[in-house]
Amino acid sequence: MSSDHSPIVDEPLPRPRRWGEAELSRLTEMVGQESLFYWKGPQTTALIDGFRGHYPLKHVFPCSSGSAALHVAVAALRLRPGEEVIVPPITDMGSVIGILYQQGVPVFADVDPRTYNLDPAAVERAITARTRAIMPVHVAGNPCDLEALLAVARRHGLSVIEDCAQAWGARYRGLPVGLYGDLACYSFNDFKHLSCGDGGVVATNDEALGGGLSKWGDKCYDRVTGGRDPVDLAPNYRMSEPQAAVATAQLTKLGGIAATRNRLGDALSASLAGTPGVLPPVVQPGGYHSYWFYFLRLDLSHLSGSRDAFVADLRTEGVAANAGYIPQPVYRYSVFQTHNFFGGHWPVRDAGLTSMDYRDVRCPIAEAILRDGVTLPINEAMSDRYIEKVGRAIDAVARRHVR
Ligand SMILES: *Cc1c(COP(=O)(O)O)cnc(C)c1O
Repeated sequence: MSSDHSPIVDEPLPRPRRWGEAELSRLTEMVGQESLFYWKGPQTTALIDGFRGHYPLKHVFPCSSGSAALHVAVAALRLRPGEEVIVPPITDMGSVIGILYQQGVPVFADVDPRTYNLDPAAVERAITARTRAIMPVHVAGNPCDLEALLAVARRHGLSVIEDCAQAWGARYRGLPVGLYGDLACYSFNDFKHLSCGDGGVVATNDEALGGGLSKWGDKCYDRVTGGRDPVDLAPNYRMSEPQAAVATAQLTKLGGIAATRNRLGDALSASLAGTPGVLPPVVQPGGYHSYWFYFLRLDLSHLSGSRDAFVADLRTEGVAANAGYIPQPVYRYSVFQTHNFFGGHWPVRDAGLTSMDYRDVRCPIAEAILRDGVTLPINEAMSDRYIEKVGRAIDAVARRHVR
């Protein structure tokens, strides 16, 4: 709506300075090294130690991206062609790429309408004789209902790969996410809480999986013995020392970044508790949301006009809001609708190892969330005062739109 008053959020979007002295100091140390190779590299070693400071997992493999971490995790499970991994439809392509490359089948289960995370009952309904694993994604930094998901996994003898790419610093019942499943995967891409440009980490406490973790991201070469006789097919997903140097410095900031975002995001939700037509995200009991971004829904049955009109009014009030998150559930992307995974073919289906047809998949709750969801940035440079203005602006717009 046009208005002649000044916007309620009357200051520019705060932008954190993400890299500084800590990164420079690591990089300065790095340029004095003789090698930038990861194996026993000082920066990689420091990264593994720093990661373990937050996530005390025994086997840790830094790698080139979050997608790479997830691919390594899937490969470590040694899926046979046609075996299935249950995934949510509101996520990044990185969650499913590795499954497909390992000739597995991503099976989409619907999500909870208020947390946007995998619904344990929908997961259970999606289980078949071919299911091997569940991949809970902590969307936007909001921890999944891990207790229920782990119970489903245990009942059916399934592995759990936690996709924590959006959930640095998030916790569930006092422990960081990633410590609950069999394998934990994180991303350092440019947009995540922590970044080294591109990078990732895959980690586990499981001896059977962990002993070979690095081989799945390092051509199946044995760096310990120096032997070179790969017994499995594995890509090169190594992280090099420059990324490890930056990532190590970034990890020292994790506690502060997560605490600030948690406080701001929860404060925004509290301020919206009485706002008509606006549904703030719900955090599981015992959950600690680290707000990679803030993801609310509009109850359009109580609001006049469209989501886009609502968002346009928010922007007029100075709120950096966006309509929706990803444009469609992942199964609606062209590559899934055409099953064009390998040169126009999907070998596991051609071989009769799956009957999956992504054109038939429907996850109505995920589809509704993507139709009426609104996303807002949260970052550690924002003040409580800024968030208070954002809350007031959303409330004012909602009251103008309420039926
Ligand atoms: C970012 C992201 C990934 C992939 O990470 P990259 O480092 O970009 O490969 C995977 N899963 C989720 C949920 C993500 O948000």
